[in-house]
Amino acid sequence: MTTAVVLFTRDLRLHDNPALHAAVNGADEIVPLFVVDEVIAGGRFTNPNRAAFLADCLRDLDESLRKRDTRLVVRHGDPVVETCSVVQAVGAASVHVAEDYSRYGMRRERRLRDALGSVELITHASHAAVPPGSVTTTGGASFSVFTPYYRRWAQERLRDPLPAPRRLKLPKIAAGRPPSAAEICDGLRSRALPTGGEQVARRLAQRWYSRGVAGYDDGHDALADDATSRLSPYLHFGCISATELVARADRRAGGVEAFLRQLAWRDFFQQVLAEHPDVVDRDLRTHHDRWRKPIREIEAWREGKTGYPLVDAGMRQLRDEGWMHNRARLVVGSFLTKHLYVDWRVGAQHFTDWLVDADVANNTLNWQWVAGTGTDSRPNRMLNPVLQQQRYDPDLAYVRRHVPEFGTPSYPEPIVEHAEAVARFKAARSSK
Ligand code: FAD
Repeated sequence: MTTAVVLFTRDLRLHDNPALHAAVNGADEIVPLFVVDEVIAGGRFTNPNRAAFLADCLRDLDESLRKRDTRLVVRHGDPVVETCSVVQAVGAASVHVAEDYSRYGMRRERRLRDALGSVELITHASHAAVPPGSVTTTGGASFSVFTPYYRRWAQERLRDPLPAPRRLKLPKIAAGRPPSAAEICDGLRSRALPTGGEQVARRLAQRWYSRGVAGYDDGHDALADDATSRLSPYLHFGCISATELVARADRRAGGVEAFLRQLAWRDFFQQVLAEHPDVVDRDLRTHHDRWRKPIREIEAWREGKTGYPLVDAGMRQLRDEGWMHNRARLVVGSFLTKHLYVDWRVGAQHFTDWLVDADVANNTLNWQWVAGTGTDSRPNRMLNPVLQQQRYDPDLAYVRRHVPEFGTPSYPEPIVEHAEAVARFKAARSSK
């Protein structure tokens, strides 16, 4: 009788889960384990919104496992210590886990490998459709420019999606129970959060491919129409696999190519992070910016009270829903880093404090992109928040939805003049 442990991290699904699939094929008994990591739960990496979503995901995973005659085994603490203790308790010969490209994830993997000693640790590429390292430049490095990366990405042959296991046998072990949101990270939550979990993700993806994606090409930037998939938190927590989304797409159908391109951006940033894990707090391509620290302006930005309606609508959507439309993320990001000339790390941390889809690769590298310290080939471009509103929210429907006092005397005056901000930013960057 052989036993394997599957350590779930942010691959919270049964379908197309390479770690789970390999474990089931290689062992008679499986422990599906999740460790509520006290460093992540208590630190600056999570927020109450993500905790609520994660709690949904774990409940959902447990429910699906119960239908297959087993349970999710839950522990709290250091994932390395807890995994080793479960391995010892059941006499497991191997541990399967998804590869992770964040600095924290890579360190966790190294520590786990050392601590397990003779017990085998098997890692599986699970988060990306095209994993880091598969598409490289002729010199074998990661791509730092998206367009050539995408050309190669689009030609990659993906593996077939893996089926969910039918039945699993759990060895004798106390299972514990999935944690509540408050047990993971307590605090103020947004009022309109999505429900997490694989079952919701699969329904959402199904609906998106049958009804939503057709309008994506033309409609994804129209702020009020909400015409994007809203799959980002499900992709982040691995409730649905990117490989499966790409494999199920009918490339001849309308909107699909444009949608796949966005999934390619996600893979692109994962391969940049895998090669440069320190981009989390360091510029990828520095301009030696001497960022300003205007406390009141930063607070007005966080609160959605800058006097620029599109910026304010985006920032309020973030608080209301724990999510923000991509076009608004671009505009609020450009406004903070270029109009206010404030460090992108301030913005990235605020997003991490609220976003339900907050993701090390996507958040950091998109922030660096808008700040011009990352992979944007036009690092000094500034988005004009007034023109962006006229173009992407011409009827002000998105603005009015999120900023009810817009157009009344209580709506604030702009905290900075556009022309002045442009001049200040140009001067700052040209002096470098
Ligand atoms: P769709 O338009 O339906 O796209 C489908 C999927 O493609 C998304 O779910 C996402 O996984 C991926 N995707 C789309 N746009 C991008 C992009 N620009 N970069 C990488 N992947 C993309 N996305 C996150 O998932 N987590 C973050 O923490 C995050 N922070 C961001 C911060 C800034 C400053 C900016 C400008 C963008 C950020 N994004 C982030 C990217 C993007 O805004 C979101 O992925 C998208 O808005 C999610 O909505 P959707 O699922 O409806 O996207």
